[in-house]
Formats: sequence, C-alpha cells, structure tokens
Amino acid sequence: MKKALKIIATVLIIVVLIIGIMFVYDRATIGNQYKINEKNLLIPIIIYHDLVESEDQIQYDYMQTTYETFKKQITGLIDYGYKPITYKDLIEYSKGEKSLYKKSFIITFDDGYEGVYKYAYPFAKENNIPITSFLINDKVGTDGYYSWDEAREMDKSGLVSIYSHSMKHDDYDKYKPEDLLNDVTTSLAQIEDELGHEVEKVFTYPCGLYSEEGRKLLEDNGIIQNLTDSKINQSKTLNLYGLHRMYALEDPVWKILLKIEYRHFRYGG
Ligand SMILES: [Zn+2]
Repeated sequence: MKKALKIIATVLIIVVLIIGIMFVYDRATIGNQYKINEKNLLIPIIIYHDLVESEDQIQYDYMQTTYETFKKQITGLIDYGYKPITYKDLIEYSKGEKSLYKKSFIITFDDGYEGVYKYAYPFAKENNIPITSFLINDKVGTDGYYSWDEAREMDKSGLVSIYSHSMKHDDYDKYKPEDLLNDVTTSLAQIEDELGHEVEKVFTYPCGLYSEEGRKLLEDNGIIQNLTDSKINQSKTLNLYGLHRMYALEDPVWKILLKIEYRHFRYGG
C-alpha cells in the first residue's frame, strides 16, 4: 500500500514538473516569430457578429456580444501573448514571405452590423489592433448595419479590413458553383469600387453553408474562404481555401484557451 502511494506521488510530481517546464518554455518563447514550416502554429480565427451595449440586447449568444465581454476576451488573449493579425499577414505567411508570432489570431465580424462601427472600430483604434469585417452588400446602410461612408472611414484607418460575406446572405450550398462565383466576385468588386482600392479576395460563407463544388470553383479563382466549423487552423495543414473559425461566445479567456487546445487535440496535428 505504502509502495503504491509512493509510486502515485512520484508520477504526480513528474506530471506537475512536465507541465511546469512546458509552461515556462511557452512563456519564454512567447515573443518568437516563425516562418511557415518552422513550427506548427495554431492560428485561431474568432467569429463575432454584432457588439451591443448591454446583456438584455443579446438574443442569441453567437449573434450579439456585449462590448464589455468582447473587450475582456480580446485584452485577455493579448495579455496572454496573443497577437491580432490580418488576412494579409496570413496570406504573406503562407507564401513564406512573413513570420508570425507564435500565438497569432484573427478577429472577425460577420454581417457588417452597426456595432462594428460603434464599438469594435474605436476599440481597434484605441489599442492599435487589426480587425476584419465581412459585409453583406445588400445590407450595407440598412437598419442595424453600417453604411458605405462608415466602411470607408474604417478602411482608411488601416485597422479594419473589409471583405465579402456575399451579396445577399443566402443558402449558398444550394447555388450552382458558377452562380456562387458570380455572387462573390460581384460582392468583392463592389467593395473595391466603394473603398476605392483593391482588396484581398477573402470570402466568408453565410451560416457556414457551402458545397464542395462551389468551394473548389472559388479556390480555382483564387478566393480565400472561411468556414464556420469550430475547428482550429494549424500552419502545417493551413488551407486558405477552407479556413476554420470558432466562436468566442460569452466565454472567459481561460475557456477560449482551453477550447483552442482541445480542438488541436481533437482534430489532430
Ligand atoms: Zn452571416
């Protein structure tokens, strides 16, 4: 009996030591930057929709997030060592042209809600961090959505990247691939026209609905695509034409960090 206890205690001490060493190593290398293929980086892309002032404005936890929760989540991740990056950074990294910090992540907002202009944009300016907004062309300037003037103002700041979330937010998995391509290219062309410059060709599927044929045709046309599948991007299998994204919901930072590690474990790598 005593012997068994001794063995358990020894194993426990070893486990605690290993975890401690891993933690110390992680903290010591937090500022390191890596080129693609140098290290398998986990690159979470976080999805938000609208930001609101108070909790009673939340209808669905994945659709509305209070500004307070958003602030806590982002500053918490940054305090832990995460660096917000842009899709441009990710594209250059994938080509081997740029290094990324060990803990890089992307902050995205779907649909183009007013809360992006009202809360996320001032927050981005205050903290000098990049964010990305995917707009629905037909919704811009309508009730609850930011206008083209506001889009231009955010774009000019250099901190907000604006890309496509389709023309009309339909079930694009039911579209013929060429009709999907037409929708996305029209949407991106209008964004470029309204902003007055070229943008990276980045698209996010409404409700994450896509068909493999459609996805392939967009890939053949060089359009970077975001899915909504709660998986995690790993640099060694990085696929710009099927990027994984996850929700932060109302989660505290420790839970987001756990989810990142769990998904890495769950989906391999
Ligand atoms: Zn959407």
